[in-house]
Amino acid sequence: MIRPIKLRRKRVLIDVDTQKDFLVASGSACIKNHRRVLMNIRRAYAWARIKHIRVVSTALCKASRNGDNLCIIGREGQKKVSYTLRHKRFIFEADNSTDIARDLFTRFDQIILNKRCENPFDEPRAERLLTELKADEFIVIGAIAEGAVAATVLGLLQRGKRVVVLTDAIGAIDRHAADVAFRKMKAKGAILAETKNIAGSTHLHTAGVCDCKLCKASEKEENLQTQTSA
Ligand SMILES: [Zn+2]
Repeated sequence: MIRPIKLRRKRVLIDVDTQKDFLVASGSACIKNHRRVLMNIRRAYAWARIKHIRVVSTALCKASRNGDNLCIIGREGQKKVSYTLRHKRFIFEADNSTDIARDLFTRFDQIILNKRCENPFDEPRAERLLTELKADEFIVIGAIAEGAVAATVLGLLQRGKRVVVLTDAIGAIDRHAADVAFRKMKAKGAILAETKNIAGSTHLHTAGVCDCKLCKASEKEENLQTQTSA
């Protein structure tokens, strides 16, 4: 019997695949309404930082094969969006080992689990870590709703965890499929909430990581507001 991983804090932020391919306009599978989702992801991270809440992130990490263009190792799109990285982080490469040091969360604020497939529970180490992780509440953000987020949430629920899904900090590519996925998560026991219910509102309006016209325009607006209020 392996001793469970203990957390001093009661809540943990589960960040699913917040990578450029999903979240910025130039990514190979950009979600709908990326500007708003990015704002909420940023807000959730700011909240986690202030409250000293630990983060477990998953990151899709694939070898280039068959002309596939999504989250390929070494490419820009595979990288995580800048503000989803904590300073004290530990990264696990995807391999078939299940080794996890017991004191990881006393030394790091963020564990990043690279995975070769959508479902983290198909990846041996991610499966073990998510299964053994003890927290009163798992708060989930990321992408994409109808894919990795659904697999992560349903897997956590199956393992008896209490899961809060921040629907406005989660991106979708197919809105209909995402709605179906959210309904399924709720039916299985997940609590659906908005980011402001947990993290409150903030002055962080823009994404700051995407170069598309929409994001740039709102960044300008934010700078103007900051200047006027200063
Ligand atoms: Zn953008």
